[in-house]
Amino acid sequence: MDNKLSNILKRYNNAPDRLMDMLHDIHNLQGYITPAEMEVIAGATGKSFAEVQETVTFYHFFSTKPKARYNIYLDSSITACMRNRKTVKEAFEHECGIEFGSVSEDGLFGLFNTACIGMNDQGPAAIINDIVFTNLTPFRVKELVKGMREGLPVADLVYENYGDGNNSDPDVKAMVVNNIRKKSVLLKRDYEFFSVIKDSLKNFSPDEIVKTVEDSNLRGRGGAGFPTGMKWRFGKRVDAEHRIIICNADEGEPGTFKDRVLLTEYPEQVFEGMVVAAYATGADLGVLYLRYEYKYLLKFLNRKLEEMREQQLLGKNIAGINDFNFDIRIQLGAGAYVCGEESALLESLEGKRGEPRDKPPFPVEKGYLNYPTIVNNVETFATVVKIVKNGADWYCNFGTKDSRGTKLLSVSGDCQYPGIYEVEWGTTIREVLEMSGAYNVQAVQVGGPSGMLIGTKDTDNLNKQEQMKWYKPSGMMGAEKFLDRKLSYSDLPTGGSIIIFNRERDLLSDVVMNFTDFFIEESCGSCSTCRIMPTVLKKKLQKILDGHGVRSDIDDLINWGKVLKASRCGLGQTAGNPILSSIINFRHLYEQKVKSLADYDTDFDLEKAIQASSRFVGRKPVVHI
Ligand code: SF4
Repeated sequence: MDNKLSNILKRYNNAPDRLMDMLHDIHNLQGYITPAEMEVIAGATGKSFAEVQETVTFYHFFSTKPKARYNIYLDSSITACMRNRKTVKEAFEHECGIEFGSVSEDGLFGLFNTACIGMNDQGPAAIINDIVFTNLTPFRVKELVKGMREGLPVADLVYENYGDGNNSDPDVKAMVVNNIRKKSVLLKRDYEFFSVIKDSLKNFSPDEIVKTVEDSNLRGRGGAGFPTGMKWRFGKRVDAEHRIIICNADEGEPGTFKDRVLLTEYPEQVFEGMVVAAYATGADLGVLYLRYEYKYLLKFLNRKLEEMREQQLLGKNIAGINDFNFDIRIQLGAGAYVCGEESALLESLEGKRGEPRDKPPFPVEKGYLNYPTIVNNVETFATVVKIVKNGADWYCNFGTKDSRGTKLLSVSGDCQYPGIYEVEWGTTIREVLEMSGAYNVQAVQVGGPSGMLIGTKDTDNLNKQEQMKWYKPSGMMGAEKFLDRKLSYSDLPTGGSIIIFNRERDLLSDVVMNFTDFFIEESCGSCSTCRIMPTVLKKKLQKILDGHGVRSDIDDLINWGKVLKASRCGLGQTAGNPILSSIINFRHLYEQKVKSLADYDTDFDLEKAIQASSRFVGRKPVVHI
């Protein structure tokens, strides 16, 4: 390994900010990273051993110990659970002879749970040695494990009828399908890829491009909704030797898979949008940060970049424009939801733990390696191309006054046609349910676990003031209005995740618990609120679900949930949302579970509780005579 390691270090010029790449390369060779290797890397990059170690141990897909020959990561998202994940999990355990969270003694199999892998429209799904397997059933598991026992390469276990479109590309060969159900202005193939770089850019000054994007009122499509043109203007006005454009393809919000489809079918448009942004802002380096779960697209995306270089659409004097020099590289993440937060992404890009930074300064002032950095979502870049091609006025014809244009929705859960829908902002929940063939609907999760759970039954037990405090500016509506709520920045903003639950689903035990577990698992641990409170909330919720709750427990959940709002980043600030929004819209479910509407448990058995706690801490139980 010594020679190989020094080659890896040489490949990245010992640059500390390429630590993630070095770790990936070592992982690709042997599947784990030893302390000795961390020492060598530390010495070469000028980092301390502790700094290298904390990066290695932060990410889900890095390991410090040998793993198995076949490492099976089974998606634990709620949509997978709704499609019989439990039986698939049991089948893996039965066939491999081990439990999840362990490696078999012979080192053949490793079974691991993993958060949403962006396959909600075709789950349950698993990643086995970086290859995605969708629509798993116990029968399919049996076949897979048999193949692995026979020593077959994992790629040979994918059915040969690969998915549609570029999923069948020789550099992808994935059984993933796109499930594009509705196309509008973004997805329609009504322009030739790269024609904006080749033909349009030279007709506009950089300032005019920024102005066009500002006039279009395009807002970031990742969920936060910050005006894109304004972000570009802020990034442009800082004097610096380099300026950076980053495409955030760390699509980790459970229930979201639109970027997967864009990167599969429209990578040219996404990269073209990055080039447009570079031209407009004077950037010279671009990075697409790709979530690890989409590693199966890496070779294909790199090929697309190479093709762009061959056509002089990247590199020096792009499209014949003097001094327009810009190139893009792809940075692979390693499994951390928090890296979807732009400053955490920058930390990761610099080879560190993905811990969000304090702001200010904002990335547009001091971002990657302290250079002004513009971070936009995959969908945002793809949209920019259409705006520059057709003009801001054209784009403003779509959507609503405060929410211009269209939005890609990733629809999954209890509906006949899960997949990608491009709809105009202002589309109602009723329309989304109708177009996706939803049935017997009880609730809809809009915006993933960090968004809100809305539904057909609203007991209105929280007063209006309390509701407004948490979900400004929408407030909460009566049950009859639920279907007429609109996807827009003034009512239901969303990064795109829409999960539908029918009336058979147990919203509290299954849905809210799954989302709360997700936040517990994904906290970076930096803030005490985010590190501790989701677990405390979960325990309180469990108490209620176990039938030991009282009315004041519901109030505790609300009050303690507020504490989370003091967390540093969006992950912690929204970690209480599954519980809070379900209390607001489904309070009756909580009240049905509490033993008494009194403020304390009248049946509390002190003696029994003391005995239990004595047993827990290993003390001799106190016996009262
Ligand atoms: Fe980390 Fe959570 Fe704090 Fe965000 S809120 S910085 S994820 S601990």
